[in-house]
Amino acid sequence: MKNQEHREIILKGIGGSPGICIGKAYLVEKEGVDVVKQYWVTGESLSAEVNRFKTAVKKAMEALRRIIEETPEELRQHTQILETHMLLLKDKMIYDKTVDLIEKERVNAEWALKKVVSVVKPMFESMSDDYLRQRADDITHVADRIMENLTGADQVDIARIDKRVIIVARDLSPAETSQIQLERIKGFVTNRGGRASHTGIIARTLEIPAVLGVGNATLNIKNDDIIVVDGEVGTVIVNPTEQTLVAVEEHILRYEHQKASMVRKSHLPAQTKDAVLFSVMGNIELPEEVVSVLDHGGEGIGLYRTEFQYLSRSNFPNEEMLFENYKDVIDVMGDRPVTIRTLDINGDKVVNYIRDDHELNPALGLRAIRYCLKKPDVFKAQLRAILRSAVSGDVRLLIPMISGIDEVDQTIQLLNEAAQSLKEQKIPYKRDIPLGIMIEVPSAVMTADLLAEKVDFFSIGTNDLIQYTLAIDRGNRHVAHLYQPLHPAILRMIKQTCDAAHKNGIKTYICGEMAGEPLYAPILLGLGVDELSMNPQSIPLVKEAIRSIDTVKLAELMESVMRLTTPQEIEALVKKKFEESMNNKQES
Ligand code: PEP
Ligand code: MG
Repeated sequence: MKNQEHREIILKGIGGSPGICIGKAYLVEKEGVDVVKQYWVTGESLSAEVNRFKTAVKKAMEALRRIIEETPEELRQHTQILETHMLLLKDKMIYDKTVDLIEKERVNAEWALKKVVSVVKPMFESMSDDYLRQRADDITHVADRIMENLTGADQVDIARIDKRVIIVARDLSPAETSQIQLERIKGFVTNRGGRASHTGIIARTLEIPAVLGVGNATLNIKNDDIIVVDGEVGTVIVNPTEQTLVAVEEHILRYEHQKASMVRKSHLPAQTKDAVLFSVMGNIELPEEVVSVLDHGGEGIGLYRTEFQYLSRSNFPNEEMLFENYKDVIDVMGDRPVTIRTLDINGDKVVNYIRDDHELNPALGLRAIRYCLKKPDVFKAQLRAILRSAVSGDVRLLIPMISGIDEVDQTIQLLNEAAQSLKEQKIPYKRDIPLGIMIEVPSAVMTADLLAEKVDFFSIGTNDLIQYTLAIDRGNRHVAHLYQPLHPAILRMIKQTCDAAHKNGIKTYICGEMAGEPLYAPILLGLGVDELSMNPQSIPLVKEAIRSIDTVKLAELMESVMRLTTPQEIEALVKKKFEESMNNKQES
């Protein structure tokens, strides 16, 4: 019998990046930081203790500065958050309070820092806003860094990892991730973090399997343990039995085979059985994801979420930085369309240098276009950068969170002003580009007929449209079961939007997560959607699903679907039809 130490255990987390791998665990848990002893500091040693703290902060600053300077140009995007960490190191809430505490309570620096963090961190953790909540992790990164310098704890030098291993960590800060030679890494497992975390974004971009938010991975996994990371379902198997290993290896072979055959076919057009051609595009957050869109057969960028360039910085990026960034994407895409969405901040993506009033209900607050119209300077800098970049390719401009005609009129006005200023400065630009709006607020659906007269295309953001229509917070796990894309209300809204668009001779696209679900492809095409955009990995699957559709039969399917009354019934019917059409496809 296997001893207790090597018993197979399964840990559950969040699937952060798809794929499965087997390998040896490499723990980057830092020992000695969690256990902090308290001791008293006498009068004459007090200033020495404060200096010891200040020196630890200074060392942490220098280390961060070095990492930023040594980061290769192509990964610079990921170092912006380090600048935030540098600011946090000197933040009054941490720095001044720790110095105060050392002096007032005459305690050692480690104890004072720990006490300050134990007050500040929960403040962030209890914030309703996702982005601010995630800043609690940044406080931990920063405090850990100071603490390591204070305690002299052994630091695992992750820059020197030279084996093909799976990294297991409490969390990986962007600073750490940018030091790792990622080509050596088979997978990631972290105690903390979710899909929106930095590690998740990087892992997905580089297609490295990752399971995040496991909670206790570093307690249950030891260095050199054999582990299986399944980023698809979000599980980690520690010390797998022979039997499990055989099953996993078979699974990997099947997965690789499926992926290879999908990717081989991903460059085939998304043409239905009756020869109707659809465009399938990719969504990106960072310019480097463009390559992944092309590799997966994407025919353009249907959604470039530009806000990531504004997050994790200490101030607004300037026009030149934005222009360079858009041009990078456009240059790679050549003459394929690139849909640049203007800034969608606040709501769930908060920029930490905007210190406006705290909003109780950020999802219903000064988000996206509402923020931009309040800050015309910020908005115009972005519009100018987009108009300038449009000279180099096929650029579409997309405005998020439109809730009525007024916002479109004001946007057009600012767009004209941006173009006029470029003209006066004799800077090359292109004003004549398609202007589209995101349909993600119910009022936009209800006035789609009016909006369609003003713009060149609609792009339905189902992530928010579902949130605002069904009154379901998209990030709240307690109501996740009610987040139903096939709710009759949502299907009717999509139909109403498509009908209004077509009556006015414009097209409707979908760029919410719903577009990336192959099962939904027949319904979306049946409702009249003209183009789909999704995360790069879903592109081959959705293209394959489209190739199994016969549009002549869609009207009949939609008649049945629209008669059904619950999402469950609709899903059952769609699944049945999908399986039938995939089977027919294999036979033919
Ligand atoms: C959406 O709401 O569906 C969408 C694509 O925008 P985001 O997810 O960035 O809010
Ligand atoms: Mg949205």
